[in-house]
Amino acid sequence: MSSLNGMEPNSYFIRTFGCQMNVHDSEHIAGLLEESGYSRASTPDKAEIIVFNTCSVRQSAEDRVWGNLSALRAGRASPIVAVCGCMAERYGNKIIERSQVVDIVFGLDTLKRLPELIHRSRNGSVCDLGDKNEATLDEVPSVHGRRLSAWVPVSYGCDNCCSFCVVPSVKGKERSRSPDAIIDEIKSLVGNGVIEVTLLGQNVNSYGRDLSPAMSFAEILRSVASVQRIRRVKFETSNPRDLTDDILEVMDQRPEVCEHLHLPVQSGSDRILEAMNRGHDRLYYIEKVRKARETIKDLVISTDIIVGFPGESEQDFRDTLDLVEAVGFDSAFIFKYSPRDGTPAARMKNEVNDQAKSERFLRLSKLQDQKTLQSLRRLLGRNVELMVEGPSRKGDYVVGRTRGNQVVLLPALDADADSLVMAKVQAVGRHAARGDVVEVLHAKCSSRSSGG
Ligand code: SAM
Repeated sequence: MSSLNGMEPNSYFIRTFGCQMNVHDSEHIAGLLEESGYSRASTPDKAEIIVFNTCSVRQSAEDRVWGNLSALRAGRASPIVAVCGCMAERYGNKIIERSQVVDIVFGLDTLKRLPELIHRSRNGSVCDLGDKNEATLDEVPSVHGRRLSAWVPVSYGCDNCCSFCVVPSVKGKERSRSPDAIIDEIKSLVGNGVIEVTLLGQNVNSYGRDLSPAMSFAEILRSVASVQRIRRVKFETSNPRDLTDDILEVMDQRPEVCEHLHLPVQSGSDRILEAMNRGHDRLYYIEKVRKARETIKDLVISTDIIVGFPGESEQDFRDTLDLVEAVGFDSAFIFKYSPRDGTPAARMKNEVNDQAKSERFLRLSKLQDQKTLQSLRRLLGRNVELMVEGPSRKGDYVVGRTRGNQVVLLPALDADADSLVMAKVQAVGRHAARGDVVEVLHAKCSSRSSGG
């Protein structure tokens, strides 16, 4: 049903920017709106309510949101526009002033009041962020995008003080969910057909230190892996400082826990690691990787690396190239350093100019592409278990993920989205392999949604 101006009454559209945590939070925004009588708009331009769930980690992410908001101003009859996520926590009311189209700014803590905020916004813009240090989504319903896989946060916020990072200031102090809440949620998900969960935390391995009695990530990981009928357990993001041996042991001992670590290193230079306040040096990192590989067979390691951090010399950058060569990451996300107001690094002298950042980005990407290709080649001719996520960008393939999070493309006609298959890897490209389905291990069940 469409109203005169083309909008579908009581319909919503959510645009999510940034990390998996935001993707997960958006599932709760959808859940809450649907519980309050809204339904997903058939196309974004027909939505009565548009929610932007934003990211502030780099300037480019913020620029995309400002660009989207300007496009709305230039466009059509006005929907209700709401902004949440990192930019909301960072700028609050200023978003309403600057954009001139935003009706609601809300925080993770006030998400549960979103229907009331929508109502209030009909009389003028509202900004209600609540307390980011208290926010959890335990009581908020959610709608899951996929049927066999689900994201499950074990903690919110971050207590690290990496000098480049805006996350602690926008996501608040680290709060661990109770083990009961986590296990109950996972049992409920499994009851609805989920067989793969990814445990989320900004620093997932420091889970449980704030609980009373304290609990370790290794313990919650073991408990999650013990939930009946769960087949794959993944987690991210690991901080090298908190990746303890007992976590590696659980990964080795429990077949449900996948052989993957996302272990950001950020730089290969001791000088830069210190300026980043990462709390470890390069030897510590290399030793951690050695121990992890020694403990876990077929371990796949991905990482994050920042190039052009303030003061990064050519020699510092070569130390990073050297570390990437030595470790042989299976894949890496490479970022150009982006100064974030309010962080210690933004006040540092010796900024690296854009040209040098771009040049280092290209050199490092070229090296990592070779490493990724080498890693994918090791899959050639092997049978691998894949969770099929959905169509590839071009649509002629579907995207499957190995237990190590590597991408294997399958002919679209051979595998359904939301299925677990065994496939034989036939070829490898620069960023993904290509395979053929050998056996369907698990097909999707009926649709579901669950309480928070
Ligand atoms: N909490 C996680 C962690 O510590 O790895 C994720 C943080 S962030 C969402 C993901 C990645 O973005 C970081 O690992 C880092 O490589 C990159 N990043 C964070 N701040 C950045 C900045 N100011 N400029 C460029 N990249 C940045």
